[in-house]
Amino acid sequence: MSKQRPSGNSREIHAVSLNKYALFFEKTKNIPGIKIVPSKPASDNDLLLAHSKQWLRRLKLNDLTKMEEEQLSIPNSKLLISRSWKFAGASIAAALNSLECGLGISAIGGGHHAKFNTGEGFCPVNDIAIAIKKIRKENKIKKVLIVDLDAHQGNGTAEIFHNDKNIFTYSAHQQFGYPEKRERSSLDIEFPPNIEDEQYLEVIQETLPEIFKKSNFDMAFYIAGADIYAHDLLGDMKVSMAGIQKRDAFVFKILKDLKIPIVLAFAGGYAKNIDDTAKIYFNTVKEALKSFPLFNKKIHF
Ligand SMILES: [Zn+2]
Repeated sequence: MSKQRPSGNSREIHAVSLNKYALFFEKTKNIPGIKIVPSKPASDNDLLLAHSKQWLRRLKLNDLTKMEEEQLSIPNSKLLISRSWKFAGASIAAALNSLECGLGISAIGGGHHAKFNTGEGFCPVNDIAIAIKKIRKENKIKKVLIVDLDAHQGNGTAEIFHNDKNIFTYSAHQQFGYPEKRERSSLDIEFPPNIEDEQYLEVIQETLPEIFKKSNFDMAFYIAGADIYAHDLLGDMKVSMAGIQKRDAFVFKILKDLKIPIVLAFAGGYAKNIDDTAKIYFNTVKEALKSFPLFNKKIHF
């Protein structure tokens, strides 16, 4: 999302950035056995696990106020809003896949700004919250950890799970800019502008392992935002591509040690050169494969 309030400019950047998925899928052809799996749309009842009836109705009718459209910051909202059910479907499928083989990947997932009653910041629905609530309901998992390393606070996820003691939300993000109004995660880490590899990695390596001592989690979601990248147009951080790869290697290694199902979602990524974002996502998958050799290589989108 934007450094400040969503602007016309950030809408354009987001629209152009959507080409990253095709570039990413092209790169995955270099990994033998990778399967790109189109997801079934989630049901209305699935969306209602994390969102209000009113919000669902308005999404269906595409009946958003000007302000809501502005908050969502999606220019061609009619097209993207209608895909909300698919975003959620991909993350549910990835979560189910993780129960089978230890890891699931939702390429289009990571709508961490969407709240119970509204969408914002390019996120009409919170596919992470929907998937967690659905899996928890059907598979009797109880405690879930969300590791959100997108450049922007996972404010929607924090709001939805605010009163839920069984969900731990860890969000490490830039200190200033979007979202202007922050919610309280279980643990928020804030980075000053222009943070570089060494300092960034040091903080993640110090704070993240501490979380695991707090609880026995049954499942973890990793929101591996690519917008912490130095050349990202909507992020305010200066982490190199190699630094992001080190971040992912570290996170996957410690998540693997938990021996619980892990769900990966890509979330933000708006690099000036769109191919850079695709490359960062690709590197994330490569790191995941190193830690999860039993992964069945299905990528849901
Ligand atoms: Zn972001």
